[in-house]
Amino acid sequence: MDFKFTEEQERFRQEVRNFLEEELKQGSFQPSCDAWIQGYSPEFTKKVAHRGWIGLTWPKAYGGQGRSNIDRLILTEEMLRCGAPAACHWFADRQIGRSIIAFGTEEQKQELLPRILRGEAYVGLGMSEPEAGSDLASLQTRATADGDDYIIDGQKMWTSCARFMTDIYLVARTDPAAPKQRGISEFVIRANLPGITITPTIDITGSEAWAEVFFDGVRVSKNYLVGEKNRGFYQILNQLDYERAGLERLMGNYPLFDAIVQFARETKRNGRPLAEDTLVRHKLAQLQIEFEVGRLLIYRVVLVMDEGRAPNWEAAMAKVYSTAFEQHLANMAIEILGLYGQLVAGSKWVPVAGMASHSYLASKGYSLQAGTSEILRNIVALRGLGLPES
Ligand SMILES: Cc1cc2nc3c(=O)[nH]c(=O)nc-3n(C[C@H](O)[C@H](O)[C@H](O)COP(=O)(O)OP(=O)(O)OC[C@H]3O[C@@H](n4cnc5c(N)ncnc54)[C@H](O)[C@@H]3O)c2cc1C
Repeated sequence: MDFKFTEEQERFRQEVRNFLEEELKQGSFQPSCDAWIQGYSPEFTKKVAHRGWIGLTWPKAYGGQGRSNIDRLILTEEMLRCGAPAACHWFADRQIGRSIIAFGTEEQKQELLPRILRGEAYVGLGMSEPEAGSDLASLQTRATADGDDYIIDGQKMWTSCARFMTDIYLVARTDPAAPKQRGISEFVIRANLPGITITPTIDITGSEAWAEVFFDGVRVSKNYLVGEKNRGFYQILNQLDYERAGLERLMGNYPLFDAIVQFARETKRNGRPLAEDTLVRHKLAQLQIEFEVGRLLIYRVVLVMDEGRAPNWEAAMAKVYSTAFEQHLANMAIEILGLYGQLVAGSKWVPVAGMASHSYLASKGYSLQAGTSEILRNIVALRGLGLPES
């Protein structure tokens, strides 16, 4: 099938493109890899908010634009294409706002949604723990009822937006006696409450994008419990579908792809332009083919969302494929650049601004975060193909 966007959608894409080109021209940011998750720029987020591009799909009653997920896909595609620094608002826009709208109280909607829409709530995702990753239901962080409050004790790890989060999306055990899936609840709380300690994790790339978060007798009002007490796990499953669904899983390193194609055009090796080298041409063509297939898989996920269904196995399938593409891109970039590709940003002879070495190292984590590829293949097998559990 040869589908295309409507004229209105093409106009929107152009509007976003114009905005980003202007920002690039003014030098307000440099394209970088992983900018959706690591690119910290409150100024950029404010500008995006000002244009009404945060909460694009949310109902108008809550300050959103009531637009389609396809429109949001167009917006994010353009942001990712030029590596725009969108980390401050990405998580809140993608999943936390959506979750508050679906499960939150009216009070929570009135308090949190306007802050997200104004680009002032940077929400980190506090789910995983040292002993609870794939098996999230094993989490041990406790939220113990105490009058009108809960007292939170425990530890999270790999919490995103480490250095700058203003709020934490937190999953904690509210009924230790219940079977593990049934005693969990969701909260969104301020990150600066007494008893919270945030210790950034320095990862293999040297970045401090994630953190360990410790909760020591943190008192939060019961008003911050999102949705039904002890039913949090089922809410999370829905939310994870949205976490896996986006183009960021495919295009987080698009600036590297662009730069490598440009490098091949401009660089001569052994007296010949790299772009004329058969092996290099085949590698780049292969990447382009894989990229286009990934794009279609994600478009499909977004169409499922616009039908009003949670994109479950479709999102799992797209994420497995997309993270494999990103790892493939990083590997090929290192191969094409040769030994120089291993240099890091700031080194005298570093090519493509050090994006290749960053992606090579960072891409190892892509097939772990937001669900490992093994777990996601299990979802495709069980729910997509209807295969038995074991
Ligand atoms: C870069 C990065 C960013 C992250 N960001 C966040 C974040 O923002 N917020 C957050 O809460 N968490 C985050 N995480 C944590 C992430 O969700 C977990 O790492 C992931 O769920 C895997 O859990 P684990 O590390 O405990 O590994 P384990 O669950 O212990 O898995 C170890 C290995 O066993 C395999 N395995 C486990 N169970 C099965 C099974 N049933 N069938 C087949 N294979 C299985 C896994 O695929 C994996 O290969 C991040 C992780 C990384 C690396």
